[in-house]
Amino acid sequence: MIELKNKTDCCGCSACMNICPRKCIHMLSDNEGFLYPNIDIDQCINCGLCEKCCPIINFKERAMKVPEAYVIQNKDAAVCHESTSGGAFTAIAEYVIENHGIVFGAEMTDQYKVRHCAVEAKADLKKFRNSKYVQSDVGQTYQEVKKYLKEGRLVCYSGTPCQIEGLLQYLGECEKDSLVLVDLVCRAVPSPGVWKKYVAFLENKYGKISSIRFRDKTLGYQYSTMEIIFENGKVLREGIESDKWLRMFFSGMIIRPSCSSCKFRSINRRSDFTLWDCLNIHRIDKSLDEKLGVTRVLVHTNKGKKILDAIGDKIECHHISVDAAINHVNELSVSPNINEKRASFYEDIGKTSMEKVLNTYFPNTSAIKIKRNVRRIMNRLGIDVIIKHFIRKG
Ligand SMILES: Cc1cc2nc3c(=O)[nH]c(=O)nc-3n(C[C@H](O)[C@H](O)[C@H](O)COP(=O)(O)OP(=O)(O)OC[C@H]3O[C@@H](n4cnc5c(N)ncnc54)[C@H](O)[C@@H]3O)c2cc1C
Ligand code: SF4
Ligand code: SF4
Ligand code: SF4
Repeated sequence: MIELKNKTDCCGCSACMNICPRKCIHMLSDNEGFLYPNIDIDQCINCGLCEKCCPIINFKERAMKVPEAYVIQNKDAAVCHESTSGGAFTAIAEYVIENHGIVFGAEMTDQYKVRHCAVEAKADLKKFRNSKYVQSDVGQTYQEVKKYLKEGRLVCYSGTPCQIEGLLQYLGECEKDSLVLVDLVCRAVPSPGVWKKYVAFLENKYGKISSIRFRDKTLGYQYSTMEIIFENGKVLREGIESDKWLRMFFSGMIIRPSCSSCKFRSINRRSDFTLWDCLNIHRIDKSLDEKLGVTRVLVHTNKGKKILDAIGDKIECHHISVDAAINHVNELSVSPNINEKRASFYEDIGKTSMEKVLNTYFPNTSAIKIKRNVRRIMNRLGIDVIIKHFIRKG
């Protein structure tokens, strides 16, 4: 039976909950708003399956397989616009659906909860486009994957590296020839519990929300912003320097503890594809439109290569060296630190209003207002990319 000594030892993948034959593991929220397994000891038969399938307990370094690297842009500009980067994920997922398959990914529900679900129609892939910077609840989707694989269906599962490892551990010896795995380069995941409180705070302050996008490209891919639209027409569109949610995320205040010592930061993956941003495409390949966004892709398997060949008509795809792809990508090797004020932040969030907490820990200082205004002006003048080129060359 799993006994967690440290919170850093659990990434919340839910593999243990999915495998328990007694259904006596429940994923419960802790005081920071993250899910952890809780075991009903009276029901447990000590079969040990939960420990055997935990990707953290069973983590081992694997022999290095060198992947192939690409930069990819979906030929459909509308798909690029809705996607985080270059819409590579949609092209892979469409292939699966065209071959009568089923695709799992992270959606945001009408109540703004982030969770995994499955779709079988191309039109529904829209749900998965755009990164949700909140940990997704996988629920019982690993069990669904197993069922579909046993029925002989082609299945695509996308998620963070620890979710993909959790799924593989859960599936064990199950036949995986028709399973396509897509993971991400993953900095960290923010707390679903704080997200729920933040959404309630926004609705209380500004009115009912009609849509949320964590990576909107209205101001371009280089300056992607968090966009929240309210039913009364109000729009909040702020970048990483001024948006409160992004500031909470990138300061390490609300990330899952396991992300600060993540075991899955490597290019050596068991997935078929690894996807991530390419904000420096001007340094790698000048022929792609950098305003639309570009996905960097590592292909780890022959299955992945065959799919890439098959989707050639949907994407602009240029082969690059692995070194060029991973150059300066810190998220592949360095885990972010937990913010030193985190304990008092969570204490305050439990006893005072979100507005007060945000004003205390993430105030709108003059420095932030200046940074925001400078970025806006540079963006309007179209010189932000030019300045980035210049700074990087210098
Ligand atoms: C939590 C998180 C952290 C990330 N960190 C980095 C980073 O540090 N550096 C970097 O370069 N890129 C990071 N990415 C990846 C990047 O944001 C894009 O997802 C990637 O470039 C693919 O873009 P796309 O345009 O091809 O696909 P998109 O159309 O944007 O597809 C999004 C894909 O991500 C999945 N997804 C969305 N939200 C979640 C979630 N909460 N949990 C699990 N899966 C999700 C969807 O199921 C879908 O498969 C992160 C993504 C997430 C979700
Ligand atoms: S030991 Fe077996 S029965 Fe007990 S919690 Fe783990 S999986 Fe469930
Ligand atoms: S299987 Fe996943 S959810 Fe369960 S203890 Fe291990 S890391 Fe945590
Ligand atoms: S940083 Fe690591 S532990 Fe955290 S969500 Fe990403 S893969 Fe999982």
